[in-house]
Amino acid sequence: MEIMAGSRTLTMVKPTAVQKGFIGPILSMINKAGFRIVAMKYMKLSIDQAKAFYLVHKDRPFYNDLVTFMSSGPIVAAILEKENAVEAYRNLIGATNPENATEGTVRKSYGTSLQANAVHGSDSDENAGIESDFFFSMIERY
Ligand code: ADP
Ligand code: MG
Repeated sequence: MEIMAGSRTLTMVKPTAVQKGFIGPILSMINKAGFRIVAMKYMKLSIDQAKAFYLVHKDRPFYNDLVTFMSSGPIVAAILEKENAVEAYRNLIGATNPENATEGTVRKSYGTSLQANAVHGSDSDENAGIESDFFFSMIERY
């Protein structure tokens, strides 16, 4: 029988969480929840790169602030693999606003505001693919 590799999602540890020293604890939660790391990098997005990543939100009132924030310091980007990865990861990270996130989720534990909510998680398989291609070439995936 063929082994199912699972599906994939794209996460970023956002600048405030990196700055506060939460890379390790967040990766630990990801690890304990059974995700396999397919690809990972530590980098700082330029304004133009952050604009491109969040282009779907270009008409939202928070777009410019979000772009400034996401390019304000280094982030960790990673492709994660697990069965039903997009939904499983959204469940692990919790609601967009950390105040509304369930106890024990990544955003409840490490988020500091609606904007600085610790992590990004893809919202669909299609966007997971687009976002993964944004950060990683095929030879950076294992
Ligand atoms: P999610 O990250 O849960 O998928 P969205 O895709 O709606 O949420 O928004 C993208 C990011 O923009 C959020 O993670 C958050 O950092 C920021 N954001 C969303 N809504 C607001 C808002 N009303 N004010 C400020 N920042 C926001
Ligand atoms: Mg989103």
